[in-house]
Amino acid sequence: NVVPSSDELKLALRSLREENPTLGIAKTQALLLSANPSWTVSEKRVRKVLQSEGLTLAPSGGASAKKIWPSSKMNDKLDIGQFSKKIEVRYFDKAKGKGLIAKEDIGEREIIWKEDPFIIAPEWEIYDLQMSSQHCGQCTSRLAPDSSLVTPCASSTSATPCSFRYCNRLCLKRSRFTHPLLCPAQNPASVPLLVFARKNEWQAVHALAQCTSRILLDQQQGRDGDLQSDWEVVKGLAMLGMQERFVDTGREPDQVTWNKCYQLYFQAFREPKSVADQKKLARIMKKPLDPEIEKYLFEYDAFLHGLGRMSLNLETHGGLYTLHSYLNHSCTPNTSIRHIDRRTALSRITVIASSSILAGEELLITYVNPEASVNERRKGLLEWGFGECRCQRCVEEAKFVKPNDSVETLAMGVDGDLERELKAGLGLM
Ligand SMILES: [Zn+2]
Ligand SMILES: [Zn+2]
Ligand SMILES: [Zn+2]
Repeated sequence: NVVPSSDELKLALRSLREENPTLGIAKTQALLLSANPSWTVSEKRVRKVLQSEGLTLAPSGGASAKKIWPSSKMNDKLDIGQFSKKIEVRYFDKAKGKGLIAKEDIGEREIIWKEDPFIIAPEWEIYDLQMSSQHCGQCTSRLAPDSSLVTPCASSTSATPCSFRYCNRLCLKRSRFTHPLLCPAQNPASVPLLVFARKNEWQAVHALAQCTSRILLDQQQGRDGDLQSDWEVVKGLAMLGMQERFVDTGREPDQVTWNKCYQLYFQAFREPKSVADQKKLARIMKKPLDPEIEKYLFEYDAFLHGLGRMSLNLETHGGLYTLHSYLNHSCTPNTSIRHIDRRTALSRITVIASSSILAGEELLITYVNPEASVNERRKGLLEWGFGECRCQRCVEEAKFVKPNDSVETLAMGVDGDLERELKAGLGLM
């Protein structure tokens, strides 16, 4: 018996996958061995190659095809009281998921809570300023030019430079939760992934890289309590896979780009290409990976879901906020988000009541431009994978709209417009 080279195996699996797009891993292996009777290939190796080539199964539609909604789970470990005593989490139902309810009356303009991001993949202008050492690598604030408190990344050397600098020792200290795996000096294998994200201006990829770093480093740095709660945060994020999102909107998935991205992601955190990079990564990743985390972060389907999670939950400036991600949409919102601590903590959000909220009412923000027409608003929400908005305002306004005038234009690409709409809608320009 012979053991095929990895190129031979990749080639064979690629053509097998093309002919049998829905076959599971065990059956793929059986088919592979019957087509190549002299080969010895373990199921584990088949799985590995399928994953690294982005050939694992797409999330199943097919037989079980049904209306898919963004789904979110409750995070039992989240202590809402540390944010605000006036609100609580409520789980509505499978379609709507969770939301935030006022426990007592909240006055108009009242600050409900402030929150620093769980991770941040800032807007690219800010990212570039981080890369050129002008903004803090952690909190994204502008660095005071002459401050003696400003501290560089400790791993930067002339041979392997890292341009990140921090406001002070506190920001430097916090950076250890994510930076080591994204630092060009400590994990050079992450550079191609970040370059790819930057070049394609794909914020969700950067955000997923930040999230992955945080989870992996919790485990490696022995913060078991943090790992538990951070893992719950990530799993609790409303989720809609990229595939499902595109199926829903009738647009073509860009499989080639996803595969390319997945490969870079896998190389950044699991298997760098060069031996030198592998050694550097191994210095950070000393403990074996928890199997559940391995599965949820690094299988191809999970990766696509991860991207979908990021796209759905990122705040306009690119932060992912634990409690903010619980807020649901309405076209007449009662809550708004501000970045008012600009100088000291640019990435911190302040959640404010934009009108008075009575005990028992849900806190709602808008995901789309509230000035747009009902059809445009619904189109925008559908694009994000949400069902047709049935808020009171939409129901009222829809009565005056011709029925077949509704979502026919949906399949058009609206990326740029949508982003602008979103920004305008959240009042964050
Ligand atoms: Zn800072
Ligand atoms: Zn660094
Ligand atoms: Zn609405």
